[in-house]
Amino acid sequence: MLIETFLRKQLGLKAHTVTKVEETEKFMVVDIDRLGSRLLRCGLCRQRCRKVHSLQKPRVWRDLSMRKLPLQLRYRPRRVECPRCGVRVEDLPWAEPWARVTTALSNAVARLARELSWQGTARQYGLNWKSVATIVKRAVQYGLKHRPRPPVHVIGIDEVSRRKGQVYLTVVYDLERRVLLWVGDDRTEEAVRPFFTKELGRRRCHTLRVICLDMWAAYANLVKEYAPQAQILFDRFHIVKHLHEAVEEVRRSEMRRLSQKEKVSFKRTRWLLLKNPWNLSDDQKERLSTLVRWNTPIVRAYYLKEAFQLFWDYQQPKRAGDHLEKWMRMLRGHLDGVLSWTRHRVSNGAVEGMNNKIKSISHRSFGFRTAQNFIAAIYHCCAKLPLPLER
Ligand SMILES: [Zn+2]
Repeated sequence: MLIETFLRKQLGLKAHTVTKVEETEKFMVVDIDRLGSRLLRCGLCRQRCRKVHSLQKPRVWRDLSMRKLPLQLRYRPRRVECPRCGVRVEDLPWAEPWARVTTALSNAVARLARELSWQGTARQYGLNWKSVATIVKRAVQYGLKHRPRPPVHVIGIDEVSRRKGQVYLTVVYDLERRVLLWVGDDRTEEAVRPFFTKELGRRRCHTLRVICLDMWAAYANLVKEYAPQAQILFDRFHIVKHLHEAVEEVRRSEMRRLSQKEKVSFKRTRWLLLKNPWNLSDDQKERLSTLVRWNTPIVRAYYLKEAFQLFWDYQQPKRAGDHLEKWMRMLRGHLDGVLSWTRHRVSNGAVEGMNNKIKSISHRSFGFRTAQNFIAAIYHCCAKLPLPLER
Protein backbone atom coordinates (compact mmCIF):
# COMPACT_ATOMS: atom_id res chain seq x y z
CA MET A 1 0.00 0.00 0.00
CA LEU A 2 1.24 3.47 -0.79
CA ILE A 3 1.94 5.64 2.22
CA GLU A 4 -0.45 8.26 0.81
CA THR A 5 -3.29 5.72 0.78
CA PHE A 6 -2.37 4.53 4.23
CA LEU A 7 -2.46 8.06 5.65
CA ARG A 8 -5.68 8.90 3.87
CA LYS A 9 -7.30 5.91 5.55
CA GLN A 10 -5.77 6.69 8.93
CA LEU A 11 -6.96 10.28 8.77
CA GLY A 12 -10.43 9.11 7.73
CA LEU A 13 -10.55 11.50 4.79
CA LYS A 14 -13.61 11.32 2.51
CA ALA A 15 -13.78 14.56 0.54
CA HIS A 16 -10.02 15.05 0.75
CA THR A 17 -6.99 13.04 -0.26
CA VAL A 18 -3.27 12.84 0.45
CA THR A 19 -1.28 13.94 -2.57
CA LYS A 20 2.28 13.77 -1.31
CA VAL A 21 4.33 12.79 1.72
CA GLU A 22 7.67 14.40 2.22
CA GLU A 23 10.28 13.84 4.92
CA THR A 24 12.02 16.90 6.35
CA GLU A 25 14.39 17.14 9.28
CA LYS A 26 11.62 17.81 11.80
CA PHE A 27 8.41 16.53 10.25
CA MET A 28 6.76 14.14 7.83
CA VAL A 29 4.90 16.72 5.79
CA VAL A 30 1.61 15.38 4.47
CA ASP A 31 0.09 17.39 1.63
CA ILE A 32 -3.69 17.24 1.46
CA ASP A 33 -5.97 18.36 -1.35
CA ARG A 34 -9.63 18.22 -2.16
CA LEU A 35 -10.65 14.92 -3.74
CA GLY A 36 -12.04 15.64 -7.20
CA SER A 37 -15.26 17.58 -6.90
CA ARG A 38 -16.56 15.89 -3.74
CA LEU A 39 -18.80 18.16 -1.75
CA LEU A 40 -17.23 20.01 1.18
CA ARG A 41 -19.08 20.82 4.38
CA CYS A 42 -19.80 24.14 6.02
CA GLY A 43 -17.51 24.76 9.01
CA LEU A 44 -20.37 26.13 11.06
CA CYS A 45 -23.37 23.85 10.43
CA ARG A 46 -21.58 20.96 8.69
CA GLN A 47 -24.08 20.87 5.87
CA ARG A 48 -22.75 19.85 2.43
CA CYS A 49 -22.21 22.84 0.15
CA ARG A 50 -22.29 22.85 -3.66
CA LYS A 51 -20.22 25.93 -4.28
CA VAL A 52 -16.63 26.68 -3.37
CA HIS A 53 -16.13 30.40 -2.94
CA SER A 54 -12.34 30.72 -2.71
CA LEU A 55 -9.09 29.20 -1.53
CA GLN A 56 -7.26 30.31 1.59
CA LYS A 57 -3.52 30.41 2.15
CA PRO A 58 -1.86 27.09 3.01
CA ARG A 59 -2.11 26.18 6.69
CA VAL A 60 -0.31 23.49 8.68
CA TRP A 61 -1.51 21.28 11.54
CA ARG A 62 0.73 19.34 13.84
CA ASP A 63 -0.40 15.70 14.20
CA LEU A 64 0.66 12.59 16.11
CA SER A 65 4.06 11.03 15.37
CA MET A 66 4.87 8.06 13.15
CA ARG A 67 7.81 6.45 14.84
CA LYS A 68 10.05 9.42 15.61
CA LEU A 69 8.78 12.01 13.18
CA PRO A 70 5.67 14.03 13.95
CA LEU A 71 3.27 14.36 11.04
CA GLN A 72 2.48 17.79 9.77
CA LEU A 73 -0.62 18.19 7.62
CA ARG A 74 -0.56 20.93 4.97
CA TYR A 75 -3.68 22.12 3.17
CA ARG A 76 -5.31 25.18 1.62
CA PRO A 77 -8.76 25.37 3.23
CA ARG A 78 -11.65 26.35 0.98
CA ARG A 79 -14.30 28.88 1.78
CA VAL A 80 -17.69 27.49 0.82
CA GLU A 81 -21.04 29.10 0.11
CA CYS A 82 -23.41 27.61 2.64
CA PRO A 83 -27.11 28.12 1.86
CA ARG A 84 -27.75 28.59 5.57
CA CYS A 85 -24.67 30.39 6.88
CA GLY A 86 -23.26 32.26 3.86
CA VAL A 87 -19.56 32.17 3.00
CA ARG A 88 -17.70 30.14 5.62
CA VAL A 89 -14.44 28.25 5.94
CA GLU A 90 -15.05 24.57 5.26
CA ASP A 91 -15.30 21.94 7.98
CA LEU A 92 -11.97 20.15 8.40
CA PRO A 93 -12.40 16.55 9.50
CA TRP A 94 -8.98 16.43 11.19
CA ALA A 95 -9.13 19.55 13.38
CA GLU A 96 -11.40 21.89 15.30
CA PRO A 97 -11.78 25.35 13.73
CA TRP A 98 -8.76 27.58 14.41
CA ALA A 99 -6.79 24.77 16.07
CA ARG A 100 -3.14 24.45 15.05
CA VAL A 101 -2.98 20.79 15.99
CA THR A 102 -5.19 17.91 14.87
CA THR A 103 -7.98 16.66 17.12
CA ALA A 104 -6.16 13.31 17.42
CA LEU A 105 -3.06 15.03 18.80
CA SER A 106 -4.88 17.46 21.07
CA ASN A 107 -6.98 14.64 22.55
CA ALA A 108 -3.87 12.53 23.14
CA VAL A 109 -2.17 15.49 24.85
CA ALA A 110 -5.31 16.25 26.87
CA ARG A 111 -5.59 12.64 28.06
CA LEU A 112 -1.96 12.57 29.20
CA ALA A 113 -2.37 15.95 30.92
CA ARG A 114 -4.95 14.35 33.18
CA GLU A 115 -2.17 12.11 34.54
CA LEU A 116 0.98 14.23 34.30
CA SER A 117 1.94 17.85 34.87
CA TRP A 118 1.65 20.16 31.88
CA GLN A 119 5.45 20.34 31.81
CA GLY A 120 5.74 16.55 31.76
CA THR A 121 3.09 16.24 29.07
CA ALA A 122 4.87 18.81 26.92
CA ARG A 123 8.11 16.85 27.20
CA GLN A 124 6.41 13.61 26.12
CA TYR A 125 5.08 15.19 22.93
CA GLY A 126 7.96 17.55 22.14
CA LEU A 127 5.71 20.57 22.63
CA ASN A 128 6.24 23.58 24.82
CA TRP A 129 4.35 24.22 28.05
CA LYS A 130 2.26 26.95 26.49
CA SER A 131 0.94 24.68 23.74
CA VAL A 132 -0.15 22.14 26.35
CA ALA A 133 -1.83 24.90 28.36
CA THR A 134 -3.70 26.04 25.24
CA ILE A 135 -4.74 22.47 24.39
CA VAL A 136 -6.03 21.80 27.91
CA LYS A 137 -7.92 25.08 28.09
CA ARG A 138 -9.56 24.45 24.72
CA ALA A 139 -10.45 20.91 25.79
CA VAL A 140 -12.04 22.28 28.96
CA GLN A 141 -13.94 24.88 26.96
CA TYR A 142 -15.27 22.19 24.66
CA GLY A 143 -16.03 19.85 27.54
CA LEU A 144 -17.95 22.43 29.56
CA LYS A 145 -20.04 23.27 26.51
CA HIS A 146 -20.82 19.65 25.68
CA ARG A 147 -20.98 17.91 29.06
CA PRO A 148 -24.24 16.33 30.16
CA ARG A 149 -26.10 18.28 32.84
CA PRO A 150 -28.33 15.87 34.76
CA PRO A 151 -30.26 17.19 37.77
CA VAL A 152 -28.16 17.44 40.94
CA HIS A 153 -29.45 16.54 44.39
CA VAL A 154 -26.48 16.48 46.77
CA ILE A 155 -23.61 18.94 46.42
CA GLY A 156 -20.58 19.92 48.46
CA ILE A 157 -19.19 23.45 48.42
CA ASP A 158 -15.67 23.91 49.66
CA GLU A 159 -12.67 26.18 49.47
CA VAL A 160 -9.24 25.09 48.28
CA SER A 161 -6.12 27.12 48.77
CA ARG A 162 -3.88 27.99 45.92
CA ARG A 163 -0.28 28.93 46.74
CA LYS A 164 0.38 28.44 50.46
CA GLY A 165 -2.99 29.32 51.90
CA GLN A 166 -3.17 32.91 50.76
CA VAL A 167 -5.40 32.69 47.72
CA TYR A 168 -8.57 30.63 47.65
CA LEU A 169 -10.80 29.05 45.05
CA THR A 170 -14.27 27.66 45.63
CA VAL A 171 -15.09 24.21 44.29
CA VAL A 172 -18.54 22.65 44.00
CA TYR A 173 -18.95 18.87 43.74
CA ASP A 174 -21.85 16.67 42.80
CA LEU A 175 -21.48 14.24 45.70
CA GLU A 176 -23.76 11.58 44.20
CA ARG A 177 -21.88 11.32 40.92
CA ARG A 178 -18.57 12.25 42.57
CA VAL A 179 -17.75 14.77 39.94
CA LEU A 180 -16.65 18.37 40.02
CA LEU A 181 -19.36 20.78 38.88
CA TRP A 182 -17.86 24.21 39.15
CA VAL A 183 -14.80 26.22 40.20
CA GLY A 184 -14.91 29.87 41.26
CA ASP A 185 -12.04 32.29 41.61
CA ASP A 186 -12.14 33.29 45.32
CA ARG A 187 -14.32 32.23 48.24
CA THR A 188 -16.54 35.27 48.73
CA GLU A 189 -20.32 35.28 48.33
CA GLU A 190 -19.99 37.36 45.18
CA ALA A 191 -17.50 34.93 43.66
CA VAL A 192 -19.76 31.93 44.29
CA ARG A 193 -23.08 33.50 43.30
CA PRO A 194 -22.59 32.65 39.57
CA PHE A 195 -22.68 28.96 40.43
CA PHE A 196 -26.31 29.32 41.48
CA THR A 197 -27.35 31.93 38.92
CA LYS A 198 -25.41 30.80 35.82
CA GLU A 199 -24.19 27.22 36.16
CA LEU A 200 -27.33 25.84 37.84
CA GLY A 201 -29.96 28.45 37.12
CA ARG A 202 -33.27 28.75 38.93
CA ARG A 203 -34.79 25.49 37.68
CA ARG A 204 -31.87 23.23 38.63
CA CYS A 205 -31.48 24.96 42.02
CA HIS A 206 -34.90 23.53 42.91
CA THR A 207 -33.72 19.91 42.67
CA LEU A 208 -31.03 20.39 45.34
CA ARG A 209 -31.82 18.40 48.48
CA VAL A 210 -28.64 18.40 50.57
CA ILE A 211 -25.75 20.84 50.52
CA CYS A 212 -22.59 20.04 52.46
CA LEU A 213 -20.65 23.02 53.70
CA ASP A 214 -17.71 23.87 55.84
CA MET A 215 -19.38 25.74 58.68
CA TRP A 216 -16.48 28.17 58.85
CA ALA A 217 -17.05 29.35 55.30
CA ALA A 218 -19.48 32.00 54.14
CA TYR A 219 -21.59 30.02 51.70
CA ALA A 220 -24.70 29.47 53.83
CA ASN A 221 -26.32 32.79 52.87
CA LEU A 222 -26.19 31.86 49.19
CA VAL A 223 -27.82 28.51 49.89
CA LYS A 224 -30.63 30.22 51.80
CA GLU A 225 -31.11 32.64 48.94
CA TYR A 226 -31.07 30.25 45.96
CA ALA A 227 -31.95 26.84 47.37
CA PRO A 228 -34.01 27.47 50.53
CA GLN A 229 -35.57 24.00 50.25
CA ALA A 230 -32.18 22.26 50.57
CA GLN A 231 -30.92 20.91 53.88
CA ILE A 232 -27.58 22.38 54.91
CA LEU A 233 -25.19 19.81 56.27
CA PHE A 234 -21.94 20.52 58.06
CA ASP A 235 -20.06 17.41 57.23
CA ARG A 236 -18.01 15.17 59.42
CA PHE A 237 -14.83 15.66 57.44
CA HIS A 238 -14.77 19.39 58.09
CA ILE A 239 -15.84 19.21 61.73
CA VAL A 240 -13.11 16.68 62.50
CA LYS A 241 -10.60 18.73 60.56
CA HIS A 242 -11.37 21.83 62.62
CA LEU A 243 -11.22 19.84 65.84
CA HIS A 244 -7.81 18.52 64.94
CA GLU A 245 -6.64 22.00 64.14
CA ALA A 246 -7.89 23.23 67.51
CA VAL A 247 -6.09 20.43 69.38
CA GLU A 248 -2.92 21.06 67.41
CA GLU A 249 -3.13 24.79 68.10
CA VAL A 250 -3.37 24.23 71.86
CA ARG A 251 -0.52 21.73 71.74
CA ARG A 252 1.74 24.12 69.89
CA SER A 253 1.16 27.03 72.21
CA GLU A 254 1.73 24.75 75.21
CA MET A 255 4.98 23.47 73.74
CA ARG A 256 6.26 27.03 73.59
CA ARG A 257 5.63 27.42 77.34
CA LEU A 258 7.12 24.13 78.52
CA SER A 259 10.59 23.64 79.97
CA GLN A 260 13.10 21.53 78.06
CA LYS A 261 12.51 18.51 80.32
CA GLU A 262 8.76 18.66 79.95
CA LYS A 263 9.13 19.02 76.20
CA VAL A 264 10.78 15.62 76.00
CA SER A 265 7.72 13.96 77.52
CA PHE A 266 5.44 15.68 75.09
CA LYS A 267 7.53 14.88 72.05
CA ARG A 268 5.63 13.07 69.36
CA THR A 269 2.39 13.41 71.25
CA ARG A 270 0.77 14.90 68.22
CA TRP A 271 -0.20 11.56 66.72
CA LEU A 272 -0.93 10.14 70.11
CA LEU A 273 -3.53 12.84 70.71
CA LEU A 274 -5.00 12.86 67.25
CA LYS A 275 -5.26 9.13 66.74
CA ASN A 276 -8.37 7.26 67.80
CA PRO A 277 -7.57 5.56 71.13
CA TRP A 278 -8.54 2.09 69.86
CA ASN A 279 -5.88 2.39 67.15
CA LEU A 280 -3.04 2.91 69.62
CA SER A 281 -0.43 0.28 70.41
CA ASP A 282 0.10 -0.81 74.02
CA ASP A 283 3.20 1.34 74.28
CA GLN A 284 1.35 4.33 72.93
CA LYS A 285 -1.53 3.72 75.35
CA GLU A 286 0.94 3.69 78.20
CA ARG A 287 2.39 7.02 77.14
CA LEU A 288 -1.05 8.48 76.66
CA SER A 289 -2.13 7.45 80.15
CA THR A 290 0.95 9.19 81.61
CA LEU A 291 0.11 12.20 79.59
CA VAL A 292 -3.53 12.47 80.62
CA ARG A 293 -2.60 12.49 84.31
CA TRP A 294 -1.21 15.97 83.81
CA ASN A 295 -4.11 18.35 83.79
CA THR A 296 -2.83 20.67 81.10
CA PRO A 297 -4.71 22.47 78.32
CA ILE A 298 -3.42 19.87 75.86
CA VAL A 299 -5.05 17.10 77.77
CA ARG A 300 -8.28 19.02 78.20
CA ALA A 301 -8.36 19.68 74.48
CA TYR A 302 -7.79 15.97 73.95
CA TYR A 303 -10.74 15.06 76.15
CA LEU A 304 -12.92 17.52 74.32
CA LYS A 305 -11.95 15.98 71.02
CA GLU A 306 -12.64 12.46 72.26
CA ALA A 307 -15.92 13.49 73.84
CA PHE A 308 -16.98 15.01 70.59
CA GLN A 309 -16.10 11.84 68.67
CA LEU A 310 -18.78 10.00 70.67
CA PHE A 311 -21.30 12.10 68.83
CA TRP A 312 -20.91 10.03 65.67
CA ASP A 313 -22.11 6.93 67.49
CA TYR A 314 -25.48 8.31 68.52
CA GLN A 315 -28.29 6.78 66.51
CA GLN A 316 -31.09 9.07 67.71
CA PRO A 317 -30.90 12.68 66.63
CA LYS A 318 -32.29 13.83 69.97
CA ARG A 319 -29.59 12.22 72.10
CA ALA A 320 -26.92 13.33 69.69
CA GLY A 321 -28.33 16.84 70.04
CA ASP A 322 -28.20 16.73 73.85
CA HIS A 323 -24.64 15.59 73.69
CA LEU A 324 -23.64 18.37 71.39
CA GLU A 325 -25.31 21.06 73.42
CA LYS A 326 -23.31 20.11 76.43
CA TRP A 327 -20.22 19.94 74.38
CA MET A 328 -19.69 23.23 72.70
CA ARG A 329 -21.34 26.60 72.68
CA MET A 330 -19.54 27.52 69.54
CA LEU A 331 -21.58 25.08 67.55
CA ARG A 332 -24.91 26.51 68.68
CA GLY A 333 -25.51 28.64 65.63
CA HIS A 334 -24.80 25.62 63.40
CA LEU A 335 -26.64 22.95 65.32
CA ASP A 336 -29.18 22.22 62.63
CA GLY A 337 -26.55 21.65 60.00
CA VAL A 338 -24.48 19.36 62.22
CA LEU A 339 -27.49 17.31 63.30
CA SER A 340 -28.60 16.66 59.77
CA TRP A 341 -25.56 14.39 59.63
CA THR A 342 -27.50 11.75 61.54
CA ARG A 343 -30.20 11.84 58.88
CA HIS A 344 -28.12 12.01 55.71
CA ARG A 345 -24.62 10.63 56.30
CA VAL A 346 -23.71 11.41 52.73
CA SER A 347 -20.47 13.23 52.66
CA ASN A 348 -17.95 11.29 54.68
CA GLY A 349 -14.79 11.20 52.65
CA ALA A 350 -16.29 12.32 49.36
CA VAL A 351 -15.29 15.94 49.79
CA GLU A 352 -11.99 14.92 51.32
CA GLY A 353 -11.14 12.64 48.40
CA MET A 354 -11.92 15.34 45.87
CA ASN A 355 -9.87 17.92 47.77
CA ASN A 356 -6.91 15.56 47.92
CA LYS A 357 -7.06 15.12 44.17
CA ILE A 358 -6.95 18.89 43.71
CA LYS A 359 -4.00 19.15 46.11
CA SER A 360 -2.08 16.60 44.06
CA ILE A 361 -2.79 18.56 40.87
CA SER A 362 -1.40 21.65 42.53
CA HIS A 363 1.67 19.82 43.84
CA ARG A 364 2.71 18.12 40.64
CA SER A 365 2.73 21.47 38.88
CA PHE A 366 4.55 23.26 41.71
CA GLY A 367 1.60 25.60 41.98
CA PHE A 368 -0.02 27.35 39.07
CA ARG A 369 0.91 30.99 38.68
CA THR A 370 -2.45 32.11 37.41
CA ALA A 371 -5.87 31.21 38.75
CA GLN A 372 -7.18 30.54 35.22
CA ASN A 373 -4.59 27.84 34.61
CA PHE A 374 -5.25 26.19 37.95
CA ILE A 375 -8.99 26.34 37.38
CA ALA A 376 -8.59 24.78 33.93
CA ALA A 377 -6.45 21.99 35.39
CA ILE A 378 -9.03 21.28 38.11
CA TYR A 379 -11.88 21.07 35.60
CA HIS A 380 -9.74 18.94 33.32
CA CYS A 381 -8.87 16.37 35.99
CA CYS A 382 -12.00 16.31 38.16
CA ALA A 383 -15.04 17.16 36.05
CA LYS A 384 -15.02 14.13 33.72
CA LEU A 385 -15.49 16.39 30.73
CA PRO A 386 -15.99 14.90 27.25
CA LEU A 387 -13.29 15.46 24.60
CA PRO A 388 -14.03 16.40 20.98
CA LEU A 389 -14.90 13.43 18.75
CA GLU A 390 -12.18 12.19 16.46
CA ARG A 391 -13.67 11.67 13.03
ZN1 LIG B 1 -23.61 26.36 7.25
